[in-house]
Amino acid sequence: MNFKDYIRIIPDFPQPGIRFKDITTLINNGEVYRSAIEAIKSAVSDKQIDLVAGPEARGFIIGAPLAIALGVGFVPIRKSGKLPGAVVEASYDLEYGKDKLAVHRDAIQPGQRILIADDLLATGGTIATTINLIKQLGGVPVGAAFLIELGYLDGRDKMDGLDVFSLMSY
Ligand code: IMP
Repeated sequence: MNFKDYIRIIPDFPQPGIRFKDITTLINNGEVYRSAIEAIKSAVSDKQIDLVAGPEARGFIIGAPLAIALGVGFVPIRKSGKLPGAVVEASYDLEYGKDKLAVHRDAIQPGQRILIADDLLATGGTIATTINLIKQLGGVPVGAAFLIELGYLDGRDKMDGLDVFSLMSY
C-alpha cells in the first residue's frame, strides 16, 4: 500500500508558503487508517512500551488507536489550561507560532517506558517539548512514531537520540 497516495497536499495553509500535509484523507479510509496503525505498531513492538503519549490534537488520532493496538494506555499531552488535574507544563515554538503543552502529573509513573506518537514531525518542537514533559515526570521516552516526517526540517536532530519511526517522509 502506498500511503502517500492518501495524503492531500494543500498549498499556502495555514500561511503562504506552507505546503500542508492533510492526513484527513488517509484516516477517512478505514482500511488505510488501520493499515497505517498496524504498520507503526509492527515497527515499535519490540520496545516494551508501557504507555503511548500523544500531543493535541492530531497526536490523539495516531496515538490512541496505536495504544489500543499495543494493548497499553494513552496519555494526552494537551494545550495549557485544558487538563483539569495537577499538571506540569513546558512552552515551545511551532513551525508557525508558539504554544504551551501540559500533562497530568499522575499520568506517568517514574520508570515507565513511553512511546510518543503524532501525525507529523516538522521542526521537532512539539516532540522535544513532549519529551521534556515525560522526563519531568520520570518517564523514559523509548521512541517517537509518526505518519509523516518532513525530512528537510531536520526535526529528528531535536529528538535527543530517540528512535524515530515515520511511515512516510517528504
Ligand atoms: P513541529 O513541532 O514543528 O515538529 O510540528 C509538528 C506539529 O505541527 C504536528 O503536531 C503537526 O500536527 C503540525 N504540523 C506542522 N506542519 C504540518 C503539516 O504540513 N501538516 C499537518 N500538520 C502539520
